[in-house]
Amino acid sequence: MSRFWSDVTRRLTPYVPGEQPRHERLIKLNTNESPYPPSPAVVAAVQQIESDALRRYPDPESARLRQAFADYHGLHPDQVFLGNGSDEVLAHVFQGLLQQQRPLLFPDITYSFYPVWCELYGIRYERVPLGADFSIDTSAFARPNGGIIVPNPNAPTGLLLSLAQIRALVAANPDSVVVIDEAYIDFGGESAITLINDFDNLLVVQTLSKSRALAGLRVGVAFGQAALIDGLQRVKNSFNSYPLDAVAQAAVLASLADEDWFRECCDRVIASRERLTRGLEALGFSVLPSAANFILASPGNDRDTGALFLALREQGIIVRYFDKPRIAGYLRITVGTDAQCDALLDALPALL
Ligand SMILES: *Cc1c(COP(=O)(O)O)cnc(C)c1O
Repeated sequence: MSRFWSDVTRRLTPYVPGEQPRHERLIKLNTNESPYPPSPAVVAAVQQIESDALRRYPDPESARLRQAFADYHGLHPDQVFLGNGSDEVLAHVFQGLLQQQRPLLFPDITYSFYPVWCELYGIRYERVPLGADFSIDTSAFARPNGGIIVPNPNAPTGLLLSLAQIRALVAANPDSVVVIDEAYIDFGGESAITLINDFDNLLVVQTLSKSRALAGLRVGVAFGQAALIDGLQRVKNSFNSYPLDAVAQAAVLASLADEDWFRECCDRVIASRERLTRGLEALGFSVLPSAANFILASPGNDRDTGALFLALREQGIIVRYFDKPRIAGYLRITVGTDAQCDALLDALPALL
């Protein structure tokens, strides 16, 4: 605390990301990174960056990249917005679109950055309770609101809403923006990007950090009709004209061009997820059905899950533990390679 802090700064409770350990021997299953490298074409593109591209400012509009995303999804470039990680994209969305008279709605168990942005921007919000099985009942969002944000699949539960459910949610709230945070959609869900041209109140946010193995590059993207995207551009151009550096723009272009690599890595993660789920169930865990690259798993009510988290840490395996209502009995485990998942499954019996 300093006497120079503004009132806003004093009041903040910042988001705490998962640990990024300095030493490398750990099996890292805590922040939902890909266990596989990005496409070799991405690494080649980064290595081929010319000195001039570093000397100059990058294209502030990332025009080639917006065009590439538009082509990839059958949209127009003015329906694509890019930012320095989807966390930055979401921050602009909260300020530019979700700061309204009526409260913002999101599930009571969800991405814990949402209330942090609400605090930062002074946005009123209400948490909509999930069902006892953590399912999202979209009809529970039928109350006055100034916006809705839902991750699909939800985090940290991994539960997926169908495209029909998303469509119904967007259609039922024509006067507020409905944001679908699709950070994990590539691991088994159906993207709502296909609904963009049907609804002027739908915004879909994705990240290159998980399924495209580019968390270190910091690129996020939003898709919506041009008027929504234009609002985000106004915020972005009042904050940082150059959110994507030259390296990131070149690397992501290469990533989008290597569809085979992308699909192959997603398929492998999906197969490992099913294998890990069965392995944990065989050890007595209950595991929520996940459509993401992580699972939420409980060793059982009578066990101290916080202690299990620490014991795994001692063994060099880090997962995520949220000491919060309803999910304190669960571990969130990122799906690693089969070898990493086996190391976890092998370590558990002695700790249970
Ligand atoms: C990981 C994650 C993000 C942020 O991703 P970045 O693009 O790395 O900032 C956003 N939303 C959810 C639900 C996430 O899990």
